[in-house]
Amino acid sequence: MALEKHRAVVVRTMKYGETSKIVTLYSLRAGLIKLIAKGVRKAKSRLGGILEPLNVVEVIFYHKTQHDLHTLNQASILFSPIQLRSDAEDTLLALACCEIITRVQMLQDENSEVYHLLEDTIRIFNSSKPETRRIYFLTYQLQLLRTLGLDPGFSACSNCASIENKAWNYDFQNAQLLCSNCFEGEQTQGALTENLRSAMHYLSRVNITEIAAPEKFIRYQRGIYYFLTKFFQYHLEEMLNLKSLAVLQKMKKMHDEWLQSGSKT
Ligand SMILES: [Zn+2]
Repeated sequence: MALEKHRAVVVRTMKYGETSKIVTLYSLRAGLIKLIAKGVRKAKSRLGGILEPLNVVEVIFYHKTQHDLHTLNQASILFSPIQLRSDAEDTLLALACCEIITRVQMLQDENSEVYHLLEDTIRIFNSSKPETRRIYFLTYQLQLLRTLGLDPGFSACSNCASIENKAWNYDFQNAQLLCSNCFEGEQTQGALTENLRSAMHYLSRVNITEIAAPEKFIRYQRGIYYFLTKFFQYHLEEMLNLKSLAVLQKMKKMHDEWLQSGSKT
């Protein structure tokens, strides 16, 4: 057994036995790793607060080549999104980013681009204005597609390569952007305005921590969400029906119901 040190984001934790935890991390150099942290749920454990989802940590563990579950030796915290945690809804959005990582099986191998995207997203979530956080959540998903080699391709018509068009159509089945000249058939679910195409093109390429004026993209969030949902239906079903988002929807429903019942009394 050899000791290894890794920089990683805690993506999920699970209680194990009376006092232990199983911690899933997405690491910079080894992709997804699972560690057993013995005794961390004891009141006096130093590691208790460190191994919480969304924290960026450095872990030292014994690497057992033959087993998937490694034993944690030490952990220290590099970054914790304290501001973000004060908002339950935004915390769930950030947790959804982590959940996506555990779902997409091709991430078992290390992918430093994906790692940096996840860590940067958590950091920018923490420092951004709450009203722009959904834009960061959608940008994260657009960029994850690109880093996984599933770039939808927003730069030009995939048939004639033209770039100047007022209206576009996206063929979800074949993952192709088509200009209005090349698109045959009725403008149906794949219709895209030039503004929406250009917004998605920009957001899928910019460094997520450097989006200029993120609030100006708020008007496109519904369109981007619709696009991504459709795209995932055809190409990456693992991204659909995230548990964290289901919790978020329940929370919002409760919120709306309570506000309504309040106004009646
Ligand atoms: Zn064309």
